[in-house]
Amino acid sequence: MPLPRAFDYLPPPGDSPGADWVGRRVRVPFGTGERVGLVVGVGPPAEAGIALRTALALLDPEPLLTDELLATLRFCARYYHAPLGEVLGMALPVGLRDGQELPETRPFAWRLTEAGATALDRLRPGGPRRLAERLAGGSQPEAVLDDGEDATAWRGAARALAGRGLAERVPVQAGTLAGSLAGERDPGGPEPTAAQQSALDALRANAGFHPFLLEGITGSGKTEVYLQAIRDCLRAGRQALVLVPEIGLTPQTLQRFRRRLGVPVLAFHSGLADGERTRAWLAMARGEAQVLVGTRSAIFTPLPAAGLIVVDEEHDGSYKQQDGVRYHARDLALVRGKALDVPVLLGSATPSLESLHQALRGRASTLRLPLRPGSARPPRVRVLDMRKRVLSGGLCSEAVEAIAACLARGEQALVFKNRRGYAPVLLCHDCGWSATCKRCDSAMTLHGAGRRLLCHHCGARAARPPACPDCGGLALQAQGVGTERLEELLQARFPDVPVLRIDRETTRRRGELEEKLKQFGDASGVLIGTQMLAKGHDLPRLTLVVVVGVDEGLFSADFRASERLAQLLVQVAGRAGRAALPGEVLLQTHHPEHPMLATLLAGGYPAVAALALAEREAAGFPPYAHLAMLRAEAPLESEVQGFLAEARALLGEPAGVVATAPMSAPMARRAGRARGQVLLSAAQRPALQAALDAWIPALYALKSARRVRWSIDVDPVDLY
Ligand code: ADP
Ligand code: ZN
Ligand code: ZN
Repeated sequence: MPLPRAFDYLPPPGDSPGADWVGRRVRVPFGTGERVGLVVGVGPPAEAGIALRTALALLDPEPLLTDELLATLRFCARYYHAPLGEVLGMALPVGLRDGQELPETRPFAWRLTEAGATALDRLRPGGPRRLAERLAGGSQPEAVLDDGEDATAWRGAARALAGRGLAERVPVQAGTLAGSLAGERDPGGPEPTAAQQSALDALRANAGFHPFLLEGITGSGKTEVYLQAIRDCLRAGRQALVLVPEIGLTPQTLQRFRRRLGVPVLAFHSGLADGERTRAWLAMARGEAQVLVGTRSAIFTPLPAAGLIVVDEEHDGSYKQQDGVRYHARDLALVRGKALDVPVLLGSATPSLESLHQALRGRASTLRLPLRPGSARPPRVRVLDMRKRVLSGGLCSEAVEAIAACLARGEQALVFKNRRGYAPVLLCHDCGWSATCKRCDSAMTLHGAGRRLLCHHCGARAARPPACPDCGGLALQAQGVGTERLEELLQARFPDVPVLRIDRETTRRRGELEEKLKQFGDASGVLIGTQMLAKGHDLPRLTLVVVVGVDEGLFSADFRASERLAQLLVQVAGRAGRAALPGEVLLQTHHPEHPMLATLLAGGYPAVAALALAEREAAGFPPYAHLAMLRAEAPLESEVQGFLAEARALLGEPAGVVATAPMSAPMARRAGRARGQVLLSAAQRPALQAALDAWIPALYALKSARRVRWSIDVDPVDLY
């Protein structure tokens, strides 16, 4: 329950609980119903003289949560000021939260029977035959695991073979696969470059907890370093946890890990069925699996034999949970690494200022990969000054010519615009009216070739009005461009090549992006996309990237905006020239003299980061100060302000902490609800934590708190 307390129960009749009950689930009466609880302590009740209810049953034969994980979760509750019950609920996979019995998790694999081996030549061409050949040719007897994406593709064929007695499903002994790796040369792995080798040497020279920041330009071979480090870890019989951003966990990524590691690699992300997530979590808990690759919430996977934690693209925003318990998975990776006494490898082409700051202070070791292996070179970047240029659909003529030249060479171009839809604004040219959402303080985006309006914040829809609702004029115009309008324009301009748009509208399903890119293939063509295309995929024939509209990010009020924009630009630019062909990047802007762009061009991301760090230090922003944000929302503005005023008064003026007055959020209305906030800032973290420790429990007791939805965000990444 999201309540800031635990509940006491008597043990089920006949049971005598001991300390080993901690971390096990129990079924308990709660209110008028029943709930699944997790034992967090055994002993006399916290309050004397209260009639205790009796727990109904102990559900687990042994603890689900190890001491280390439970301690980390308690830390998480304290640090983020979240109720322990909410933290525990979040950390357990849904299936276990619901009190289900623990499922079988041993990995199974398919292998040919003797009959199958002899029948191989007589099989007709088709799926079953291809599978049989693969099983026969595998270096291990069990070549295809009955788990993961790979297996889903083979399952039909495997069942067909099994039905004829030609293949069978056998359990894989934990450790046998890892054992067979010992001393074996990395199959298919390239010879490490000098920089990769020295990164690996540094990792190998280290035992126990140590944070490493692997700073390598895109395509420099960071993933290769992860793979080698994981192999070291497997050879030692230990487990590796790999965190990847939402957008980075593609079938392609998993396949690469599976092929190279030669052991089962479990996936963990929100796209999996509950049962699959439970099994992956438990397989790690039981030590039956050794490698798990997952998104943010995978940081709560039990690791009884931990050897390594990797956080890929550590700067990525998706590591911060934006509702409920607002944890940061990268920060928790460091907490867990320390508790487990294992190295933590943070990788990025564009490290977060937080991690750079840690490295500057000597709290993390920096490992650098400054070059791309082989002949691949980083792309050349050019700024296109858009002032006083004629634009057609948002592209200037130089950009269009560059695309034409790229296509003429038979190569691929990417037009990057981080805005989906047809156009961001519908404007009346006569009176200045623009289409805004009735429920949000925000413009509505034009979609459907300009015929529909959609609010990207609350999902509200409307038809495009035939005339201006204010003045009745007919001069309504689409302002600006989104991906849809770019697609229309580029299709008309380049009718002979495929034009593929990748954004949340065209590409919803997990895996759809890969399918589309595969179909797009290596032939000449134009890709248009949002940040979905910014990373992850190798497109060897992509040689030109045109970035449209970076200006919004240059003048944002958010203190993290320039860091984010620089990261995005570098990541997008990194798509070009990954293979042998040289790449070029064109940045369209109305502000070519902007210091951030100038610094980025002259000194690359490290120079931007140094500049941003100096600015943050001068302005007293993270990582030089520590922030916490109290947010509230309610249908009525008065309720929000009433709660925030009372909360602010309760806070007082704690030592070492500066708090703002209650204020409206930058987007003061969203989805029909008024929103407000109070921001706390402190030079020293202990002062901030002490203030929150005293303050947050008192907020639960406020009457006005019941009329709003409120939350506390420690280390917020967004200030709205
Ligand atoms: P990153 O994770 O930094 O983007 P990758 O590890 O994906 O980089 O490597 C980029 C490309 O370079 C991949 O195609 C990879 O196979 C290749 N590569 C990486 N390391 C080497 C190496 N030592 N020798 C040759 N090719 C390499
Ligand atoms: Zn008008
Ligand atoms: Zn809206």
